[in-house]
Amino acid sequence: MYNFTSDPPEDPRGNSLQLKRTPTGRPLRGIVTCEDIVGTATHFFHGRTVPCAGNDCEAHAAGVPWRWHGYVSLYGLTTHIHRLFEMTARAIEPLKAYRLAHGTLRGCLLMAQRVNSSPNARVLITTGVADLQSISLPKEPHILEALSIIWNIELPSITLDGLVKDVPSAKVTRPAVLQRFEQGDSRFRQNAGNGDKSQPTEL
Ligand SMILES: [Zn+2]
Repeated sequence: MYNFTSDPPEDPRGNSLQLKRTPTGRPLRGIVTCEDIVGTATHFFHGRTVPCAGNDCEAHAAGVPWRWHGYVSLYGLTTHIHRLFEMTARAIEPLKAYRLAHGTLRGCLLMAQRVNSSPNARVLITTGVADLQSISLPKEPHILEALSIIWNIELPSITLDGLVKDVPSAKVTRPAVLQRFEQGDSRFRQNAGNGDKSQPTEL
């Protein structure tokens, strides 16, 4: 028997989403579909951004600096493509303010643009309340699942800290490396902040 469908078969690993960074030139606009940011320490290692694996981290052992990256799911206003959007800690402040004011990021109109035409230029994010009368937002994706597909890691290796409205993408345990950094471990101090020129994007 033949079988025809209007959608391709689902990825057995779960929801896969393409990763999007702020482009140069024109701003990126979209509506956030997740409740909260999911973030982790990452390394630029072997030509790509990979999550820090904490105590078992190969990149750490090789002395590669780390940087925190946060991710939200973003629905394109004109493209209608649902993607993961990557930001640095520095760029994320307006989203934190929005989250505080509204209790959720879902429905936040996000615009990200670089301050100049350099591909590594600093990113400025502005937020607003989206008009949801004229657009039907896709449901919140499982961000950790999507990230684990992009990074090709087992989902269970990411530890959940809690749930918000039954969505397991809301809170992620701070990686051990961040906790050590916060506790003043000098080995990690030098790698924080600016000066990492190996990163492909400076958001
Ligand atoms: Zn690491």
